Amino acid sequence: MKKSIPVKKNSIYKLTATGLSKEGHGIGKIDGFTVFCPGLLPGETAKVLVIKVLSSYAIGKISDLTEISPDRITPTCPAYKHCGGCTLGHLSYEAQLKYKEQQVKDCMERIGGLKDFTILPIVGCETTKGFRNKAQYRFTEMNGQLKCGFFKEHSHNVVATESCEIEQVGVAKIRQAVCEISTELKYDIYNEKTGKGLLRGLLIRASHFTGKFMVALICNGFLPQKEIFAKRLMTVCPEVISVFENINTTRGNTVTGEHFTKISGEDFITDNIGPAVFKMGPESFFQVNPLQTEKLYELAAEYSGADENTSLLDLYCGVGTIGIYIAKTRGVKEIFGVEYVEGAIRNAKVNAELNGVENCTFLAGDTGKILSEQGPSFAPDVIVVDPPRKGCDAVALEQVAALKPGKIVYVSCNPATLARDCKILEGLGYKCEIVRPVDMFPQSGHVETVVLLSCK
Ligand code: SAH
Repeated sequence: MKKSIPVKKNSIYKLTATGLSKEGHGIGKIDGFTVFCPGLLPGETAKVLVIKVLSSYAIGKISDLTEISPDRITPTCPAYKHCGGCTLGHLSYEAQLKYKEQQVKDCMERIGGLKDFTILPIVGCETTKGFRNKAQYRFTEMNGQLKCGFFKEHSHNVVATESCEIEQVGVAKIRQAVCEISTELKYDIYNEKTGKGLLRGLLIRASHFTGKFMVALICNGFLPQKEIFAKRLMTVCPEVISVFENINTTRGNTVTGEHFTKISGEDFITDNIGPAVFKMGPESFFQVNPLQTEKLYELAAEYSGADENTSLLDLYCGVGTIGIYIAKTRGVKEIFGVEYVEGAIRNAKVNAELNGVENCTFLAGDTGKILSEQGPSFAPDVIVVDPPRKGCDAVALEQVAALKPGKIVYVSCNPATLARDCKILEGLGYKCEIVRPVDMFPQSGHVETVVLLSCK
């Protein structure tokens, strides 16, 4: 017989959190049934109002916190209470790091079934505020004025925020200018329910090194008076050097459409990671925390053991960053890079030239497909993979192992898929040697990891 669920919606229960989910929510049990509770820390007990009940878990909301963790701090960001972004903003940074390191270890052991590896201490961030170089905002209206902010967690309600503590200094002024000019030009806001209205989102990308910004308005159709919009924005905020529009007329949750079109200014924004310099367009991926990125790439370079005789594959290469960084700091003989987004591949070719890195081939397409169909013209000594959160697919992993590199350096933003993929690679002749978490995302539950695997 199916076991009945011991909790009811809209009832209050006593809950003690024993762990944190990957989103940073407290996890506890009521009569053996799992309950997630945002804001509750491990070791804390609260009276919790159950707001949602599903077949295998429930979600609760703190109604009265009765036992408080010594790791709890008072968040300083004025938006913290309403905005769902910084799920660990109430946990001391030291405790955030401890929790992230443990999360990586648990995933490697439980999901990966891996035992015989060395986990090195997490690399923490010296700057835990103002580090984020890119964010996408939504619009809302208050007293006839457009405002922008983020979705409240698990909802599509936009919480207007004047500023955000983790975004790079200077973004708040640009956001405000965009809202004021959009109000003046009578742009209306896209409505998800009706599919009507113009403004769907605002993308701001900052260069940490140059202090310049790129702005893109995401619209449900052509942006009227776009030249006037760009001119006014670049006059009020001369630090904005590039303005794009992105048209997305599809319904559904994907905010950004496929193509960005420049309205005014530069095609690229430029940032530096250590001795390497990178140009990127609005569509390309670039790590969001540039100071930590140098530490992340330095670890990838160290684990690669590369020198001027090394043949390197940089898979999921974005704008060519990791391969070019390794070439600049260690030297390499040749690079073969693969990336899905065509614009990013165009940027990667420019970046190789900009950094004086020769013998590079960059191809746009799916990693598994490209490796199966054309592959590199050389036998790689090292393969770096840096996939998105869903990890590598089975074909890509098989192709990587079939190329028999001496080393695989796996850079991951999701410990669960990392552990799954390491297990597969162990089955394909590789041994997971070193695991090193890096905190790229202070205040959130996310953690990056660099892993060195060697050929058995
Ligand atoms: N190594 C880069 C980018 C990492 S992010 C850096 O550090 O900046 C992951 C990248 O993988 C993104 O640029 C994304 O567009 C790309 N990507 C996602 N799925 C892919 C696939 N199936 N094949 C190739 N690239 C893919």
